[in-house]
Amino acid sequence: MKLLILDRDGVINHDSDDFIKSPDEWVPIPGSLEAIAQLNHEGWHVVVASNQSGIGRGLFDMNTLNAIHRKMLKALAAVGGRIDAIFFCPHAPEDHCSCRKPKPGLFQDIARRYELENLEGVPAVGDSVRDLQAAQPLGCSLHLVRTGKGERIADLGNLPVGTRVHDDLAAFATWLLQVKASPDKA
Ligand SMILES: [Mg+2]
Ligand SMILES: [Zn+2]
Repeated sequence: MKLLILDRDGVINHDSDDFIKSPDEWVPIPGSLEAIAQLNHEGWHVVVASNQSGIGRGLFDMNTLNAIHRKMLKALAAVGGRIDAIFFCPHAPEDHCSCRKPKPGLFQDIARRYELENLEGVPAVGDSVRDLQAAQPLGCSLHLVRTGKGERIADLGNLPVGTRVHDDLAAFATWLLQVKASPDKA
């Protein structure tokens, strides 16, 4: 199975330091939805792993998060794409949960859901170092996009070993499809 794990804010949609608190604030990064649709078309199953501490902080509730996700899935469907599942951590940092990235809980949940022992070689795409730190223990291949918080990562030397850097999700998709078409380039 071709499984792919994406962070949401800063990868699929524009991020905000003030959190994405309403469907109106959810705005896709140009080309990201089309990239997901293209990957789906080539047989990739896409799931999202997202920190949503705005819930734990009381900035928005589950109904609002569901409405944001309905908007995302509808916009994606309009270009022929789909996301199979959305895994999210609703906790605030002070809750010390095991799912808030950089903890690997969300990725462990994904492995469990797909009945995989680990996520060896499953691409994980994020815009912050903690996305990569969360994915690393499961064996994911690590990809940073230079959108969202990724725009501000000045020192690429601090990324986990083996991390590949892409301009955005569209560039990542182009890279992945090219590599899979001719695996010797990987
Ligand atoms: Mg992010
Ligand atoms: Zn959590």
